[in-house]
Amino acid sequence: MPDDNGLDVLAIAAHPDDVEITCGGFMIRMADLGRRTGVLDLTAGEMGTLGDEHDRAAEAEAAASVMGLAERHNLGLPDSAVSESQENKLKIASVIRAVRPELVLLPHWEQRHPDHLVCSRIGYDACFLAGLKKLPIDGEPFRPRKVAFVSYFRNADYSFLVDISDQFERKCEAVASYKSQFGQTVTAKTIFQPGLDIYDLMRTRAAQLGQLVGVAYAEAFTIKEHILVDDPQKMPVRSL
Ligand SMILES: [Zn+2]
Repeated sequence: MPDDNGLDVLAIAAHPDDVEITCGGFMIRMADLGRRTGVLDLTAGEMGTLGDEHDRAAEAEAAASVMGLAERHNLGLPDSAVSESQENKLKIASVIRAVRPELVLLPHWEQRHPDHLVCSRIGYDACFLAGLKKLPIDGEPFRPRKVAFVSYFRNADYSFLVDISDQFERKCEAVASYKSQFGQTVTAKTIFQPGLDIYDLMRTRAAQLGQLVGVAYAEAFTIKEHILVDDPQKMPVRSL
């Protein structure tokens, strides 16, 4: 737990709805545990085929409420044109200094959408830069204690999985807050990837990940560090 008024968890993503779809269950679980959670969206998602940025902003607030977020911020960077610039890294570093998260979640670095890839890179750099005393931005130097990458359907290099069985239905509810994207029309249901219903996709994926660790539903995360173990017999791993 942080020793000040900082966040326990900050998830950084390119577009409103990215966090909900990929790690919404984890965010809800942390809120259930009494942790202070927040989301930083880099863009307003204005390039999406359906809805506009005003729809997306209202929907993001509704989803924040379902997830029990303490804070949600938006950097207002251009959707589909997020650049890997020092300027953007400093903008993220400013938010990190302001909200002081102990754990930062970033998109995994294996991505199809260029914004997701850039978000992963500049988010990672920003976590480091935020701790530099002489960085030309306001705020006290601060560096998150842990960075974890959120699995995005394609990668399989998981470091750990989190049980979201009790949170899965609320995760779906959070995604459903994006009515312009995932409402009930046929078009909206297939916007995520042609021919795939986003809810079927999330359920299948979470169930498959859950089977790996013996629970109903799970989400997967990757870290770059190795884990030091004192006593392998006490590792929280289930054999199936
Ligand atoms: Zn996205």
